[in-house]
Amino acid sequence: MVPPARPLPEVALREDAVRHVRAGHPWVFRGSVARAEGAGLCRLVDARRAPVGLGVHDADSPLAVRVWSADPDAHDFGAILDARLARAFAVRRALFADGRTTAYRALNGEGDRTPGFVVDRYGDIAVLRTDGDAAARLAETYEAHLVRALRAEGVTAVLARDGSRGEAKTRPLVGDAPDVVTVEEHGVPMRVDLARGQKTGAFLDQRENRRRVGEATRALRVVRGGGAPLRALNLFSYTGGFSLHAALAGATVTSVDVAMRAHATAQESFRLAGLDPRAHGFVTADAFAWVEAAAARGERFDVVVCDPPSLAPNERAKANALAAYRKLHHGVARLVAEGGVLFAASCSSHVGAEDFLGTLDDRALGRDDLRLVAFFGPPEDHPTLPAFREGRYLKMAVLR
Ligand code: SAH
Repeated sequence: MVPPARPLPEVALREDAVRHVRAGHPWVFRGSVARAEGAGLCRLVDARRAPVGLGVHDADSPLAVRVWSADPDAHDFGAILDARLARAFAVRRALFADGRTTAYRALNGEGDRTPGFVVDRYGDIAVLRTDGDAAARLAETYEAHLVRALRAEGVTAVLARDGSRGEAKTRPLVGDAPDVVTVEEHGVPMRVDLARGQKTGAFLDQRENRRRVGEATRALRVVRGGGAPLRALNLFSYTGGFSLHAALAGATVTSVDVAMRAHATAQESFRLAGLDPRAHGFVTADAFAWVEAAAARGERFDVVVCDPPSLAPNERAKANALAAYRKLHHGVARLVAEGGVLFAASCSSHVGAEDFLGTLDDRALGRDDLRLVAFFGPPEDHPTLPAFREGRYLKMAVLR
C-alpha cells in the first residue's frame, strides 16, 4: 500500500549473521552489521552485496536488525505483512474454535515471523505491542494493513503500546475500549485491566498452565477423598489466574503478590466465577520474604504455584538469577505438603530449560521425594522458531 519511492536502504551483514538469518534467526546484533545506509525497512545484503532478504533496521539499538524475510527476492513489505497476519490469525481461529477462550496471543512477533509486532486479543479488543523504535514507526506506516486484518477477525478496537519504552499505558489507535474487560480462559472468567495492567494486560502465556493447575488440584481431591479441604498457594499471583483455577477445583487458595491492585482485580474475577473471595487469602507482601516466614511457621500447601518475574534481565545476570531461583525453590519446597504438587515457572529468557531444572535439584529443594512429572514450554498461540532460542523464555516444571 505504501510503495517505497526510492529503493530501500541497504544493510550489509557479516558472514556469520547471513548464516543465522538463513537458518531462521530473526535478530542481527550491531556487531554483525558491516555497513548500513539508513534506518527502517531495508534490503539485507551480504559482504559482496548479494541480496539476502528484507529487514527492519533500528539505528539506535544494539539489536540492529529484525529480519522479516530471508528470501533474496523479497521487496513488498505490505504483501509479506498481510500474508503473515492471515496465517497467524487462521491458526488462532482453529485453536480457539470452541469459544471458551476469548483472550489469547493473536500474533507472537518473532515466533509468527512478524518480528517486533505482538498482538494480544481480549475479546473484540486487540492490543498491539511494538518492540523498538523502527517497529513502532513501521506499525504506523502499515497501520491500515494491521487494522484491516484485525477487523476481518471481528476486532472493534485496537490499542497500542510501545514495549521497548516500557510504556505504562496503552493508547487507542482505533475504536473505543473500556479500561477493564472480562474475558474467558477455558470458560473461566478473568478481569483484565487493559489501561494499567502489566504486559498487554494479562500474562496470556500461562493459560494452559493455569488449566493444568486446576486439573492437578481436582486430581488431588479425588485421591484425598473427603476430609480436610485442599490448600493451594499462588506465589507472584498477579491477577490470580492460577488461584482461580485452583479455587474452582475446590482448593482454599492463598495468593501472594506485592501489587495490591492486582489482588483487587483477582477478587473481581473470583466473584464473576461465583467464588467468595473472603473464603480465600490475598496477601500483599514480598513473596521471597513471605515464603521464608511461612516455612518458619510450618505452613503446608497441597498445591504450590511459583511464577516469579524474570530474575535475569541480561546474560551477565544469569549466575545471580540461578542462585536466586535455587534459594526461592528451597523455601518453596518447604511449603509443599507430603503428596503435594509444585508448579515452578521461569520467564527468564537467559535461563535455559536444563539450567532452570538444575535449580530444582534435591539439594536446592532440601528433599528427595519430589520428582519431575511434566515440563512445559509456551502454548500454541505463543509459537517460537527452532533457530530462535531467545523466544523460548517460558518454562514450567511440575514436581510431585
Ligand atoms: N502468575 C501470574 C503472573 C505473574 S507475573 C499470572 O498467571 O497472571 C509476576 C508477578 O510478580 C507480578 O504480578 C508482580 O507484581 C509480582 N512481583 C514482583 N516482585 C515481587 C515480589 N518481590 N514479591 C511478590 N510479588 C512480586
